[in-house]
Amino acid sequence: MNPRLITGLTIPLAVVSVLLLIIAIGSALYVRSLQQSISHLMSHHVASVRAAQELEISIREVRSQFDRYLITADKKHLEPVPRLKERIEAALLEAESAATTNAEYAFMRRARDGCDAFFRGYESIIANQPPGGLYPNIIDLIETVRLGEVLEPAHEYLRWNEGMLSRTSEENRELVERLTLGMLGLGICGAIGGMLAGWLISAGVRRSMQRTEERLRDTAAQLDQAIAQPHPPTDSTLQPDSALEQVTVSVSAVLKRLRQTERDALRAEQLAWVGQMAAGIAHEIRNPLMAIKILVQVAADRRSGQPLRARDLQVLEEEIVRLEQIVNGFLDFARPTRPELREVNLVELVQKSIERLRQRAELHGVEVQIDSPPESRLLVQADPNQLRQVLVNLVYNALDAQPQGGTICLGWDCSSESIELIVADSGPGLPPELGEMIFEPFISTKESGMGLGLSICRRIVESHGGRLTATNRPEGGAEFRICLQRVTHDSRLTSAQR
Ligand code: ADP
Repeated sequence: MNPRLITGLTIPLAVVSVLLLIIAIGSALYVRSLQQSISHLMSHHVASVRAAQELEISIREVRSQFDRYLITADKKHLEPVPRLKERIEAALLEAESAATTNAEYAFMRRARDGCDAFFRGYESIIANQPPGGLYPNIIDLIETVRLGEVLEPAHEYLRWNEGMLSRTSEENRELVERLTLGMLGLGICGAIGGMLAGWLISAGVRRSMQRTEERLRDTAAQLDQAIAQPHPPTDSTLQPDSALEQVTVSVSAVLKRLRQTERDALRAEQLAWVGQMAAGIAHEIRNPLMAIKILVQVAADRRSGQPLRARDLQVLEEEIVRLEQIVNGFLDFARPTRPELREVNLVELVQKSIERLRQRAELHGVEVQIDSPPESRLLVQADPNQLRQVLVNLVYNALDAQPQGGTICLGWDCSSESIELIVADSGPGLPPELGEMIFEPFISTKESGMGLGLSICRRIVESHGGRLTATNRPEGGAEFRICLQRVTHDSRLTSAQR
């Protein structure tokens, strides 16, 4: 999906989600604090109501005791009064401690004043024991200090707290309703937001897919143009119905075309090789053939009266040997033989091969030196004949490069893994314009060179798992390195296991 589309959708979505989360957390905290304050208020009002009820009940009981006493004039009805006074005191104290507003304080003050006055009067009557008896004094007390004055503020205190309680529960109910609505709104907003986001994402994805499909169709059209043909399948069941299938069909057509082009190129290359080889063969055999032809023509011409002399026969033989060499060289190049590998001491092979070449080198005025090897036995797995062929070829090339004389030096560069045999000379060095091309067939700077020697040498060394490289030495002259894998105790073990 398009990265711009992703950022364009993700950022607003993330902002909306974070906002919703903040609102939800804020609402939860607000509800919690409201709930705490409401429950605190409610518990306060409940305590006040309980105290007020207790006060009212106690006062009403005192009053009923006094009413009974007035009806029956029986003193036993006055006996519970001290106990009831204590209950009233306790209820008053509780109501006073529950009071928090001025109105409540005022009610309580009135109730306490009334209670104090009543019980003070009652206790003085009981203490003085008036001569006329208790009855008239008690009537007098009830008439002067009416219990209703105590009852009324207690009752109002109760009503006030009940009113507050119902108002608080009403507020609580309204709050719950508001919260329910808020949460419902939040839920609806979240759902709508989710649906909107989903719609936006799906629209974005669809747009992006449409663009991809357009690009695929363009690519398919370009591929079709590149191979200059419409879609290959003619079968209606195989007709591509999506841009992707269209591209797949076009790509497979392009690949097919590429493979065909590759095959054509290979064939052209092979034909070029054949042509090059034919030209090389023709060039090489033309000179000896011409020499043979001239000699034969002269001998055939009876009028000249010149039969073939011994010298002519010698030239004929040399040219035939040359032709033979050319044919063998081509055969070596065209049909390389597989090396018959065995363990060979390279030091010994080099020394023996050079001994045979030394005479020829001396004729060229070239001195051949062999550096003393690091060890007397440097073992490699090789076909000694093929390796000798490589060495001879390199030495011949070095001799050819120094017609005025010079030196050929054979050196060693050995490690525990490999052996490098270096063939260096003091000639003019490799032709700089040829570079690595000297290893390609039919590349020669010599008058009578076939240009096959180095390519055969490289092929032989590579068939031994080695490398043949050539460079110019800083002090002058060319340097060839034959690098072969060394036969060690370990490598012997491994090949024995195989
Ligand atoms: P040929 O000997 O028939 O020319 P080669 O493949 O053996 O074919 O050599 C290719 C070319 O590499 C030679 O023609 C020559 O230009 C160059 N060459 C090879 N050996 C040497 C050398 N020791 N010094 C300079 N040039 C060399």
